[in-house]
Amino acid sequence: MLLHVSSAPRDSMSEVRNVIIIGSGPAGYTAAIYAARANLKPLLFQGMQPGGQLTITTDVENYPGYPEGVLGPKMMDDFQTQAERFGTEIKFEEIIEVDFTQRPFTLKTDFGEHKAHSVIISTGASARLIGLESEKKLMGYGVSACATCDGAFFPDKEVLVVGGGDTAMEEANYLTRYASKVTIVHRREEFRASKIMLERAQKNEKIAWSLNRAVKDIYAGEDGKVNRVELLDTQTEEIENVDCDGIFIAIGHSPNSGIFKDKLDMDENGYINVTKGTYTSVDGVFACGDVMDHVYRQAVTAAGTGCMAAIDAERWLEAQED
Ligand code: NAP
Repeated sequence: MLLHVSSAPRDSMSEVRNVIIIGSGPAGYTAAIYAARANLKPLLFQGMQPGGQLTITTDVENYPGYPEGVLGPKMMDDFQTQAERFGTEIKFEEIIEVDFTQRPFTLKTDFGEHKAHSVIISTGASARLIGLESEKKLMGYGVSACATCDGAFFPDKEVLVVGGGDTAMEEANYLTRYASKVTIVHRREEFRASKIMLERAQKNEKIAWSLNRAVKDIYAGEDGKVNRVELLDTQTEEIENVDCDGIFIAIGHSPNSGIFKDKLDMDENGYINVTKGTYTSVDGVFACGDVMDHVYRQAVTAAGTGCMAAIDAERWLEAQED
C-alpha cells in the first residue's frame, strides 16, 4: 500500500519510501519542505555538493525575503534547516545508479540500495568552467559563472566575459547595466551565438571584443580579488595581460543528468524533458530545478519548481492509492 507510515526504523534501507529526493539545491530542499509537510516523510540525498551551485556564489541579492541579501551557503543552510524541521531525512550520499523499470523504484549509493514509490530529481546543473586552478580559487572573488547573480557587484568596473555562445552574449549584455566596460573573450572568430543575440551584443557600445584569445590564467591583487587576466593569442601564441575587476565564465552549463541517460526522456543537451509541470517520461518520477530548466536557472525558479514537484508527487501517490 502506498503512503503508509512504516514502523520500521526510518533510515532502514529495506523501507520503501513514499518519496526520495535526489539533490540539495533550492529545488530539492523546497520539494523536501513541501513533501515533509504533506507527511510523506521524504528522504533526500544531498550528493557531493550539498546546497548545489549557490554554495559557490557569495551574496544572493535577488531572492525574495532577504532584503539585505544573503550569502549563498547560508541560504542553503536555512533551506536545509527548514526541510529538516518538518521531518525530512537527509543523507550526505550520492545516488550513483537508478532503476526506474519497475516500482517501487530502486536507487543505489556507494553504501546500499533504497526503494521509493516516487522520486523527485533535483540534481541541478553545473556551470562549465575552463579548468584553471586560479578560476576555482577566485570563484566569488571576481570570478563568476552567473551575471544575474553577481553583475551588481561590478558597478562602473571593467569585466571580461568568456565564451562565444548565446550565454556569453546574454551575460555580456546584462553586465553592461553595471559595468563600465565588458570585453567578450572568445577563442576563435566564429560564434555559436544566434544572429540576433550576437548583433545585440555587437550594437552595444559598452561591449568590446577580444577574439582568438584563450584565458591562460587569472590573477588577484593584494585584496584577494581579481585584477588581471592573462590571455593567449590562439593564432600567434603571444601572451597579453588585461587589467580587469572581474571575469565571467559563460561557456555553457551541463545538467547533472548523467545517471538518468536512457532512463528518462531528455533534450539533446541532456536536460530532462517534463510535461504537465514536473512529470518526466516515467510515471512516478518528477524533475525540478536546473536539471530540467535551461532557460531561467534562478534559485527562486528552482524553488518554485521544487514546490511543484512535491505537489505533483503527492497527488500522484494519492491517485495510486485510489
Ligand atoms: P554553447 O552554445 O555551447 O557555447 C559555448 C561557447 O563557449 C562556445 O563559443 C565555445 O567555444 C565556448 N567554450 C566552450 N568551452 C570553452 C573553453 N573551455 N574555453 C573557452 N571557450 C569555451 O553554450 P551556451 O552559450 O551556454 O548555449 C547553450 C544553449 O542554450 C544554446 O542552445 C543556446 O542557444 C541556449 N541559450 C539561449 C539563450 C536565449 O535564447 N536567451 C540564452 C543562453 C543560452 P567554441 O564555439 O569555440 O566551441
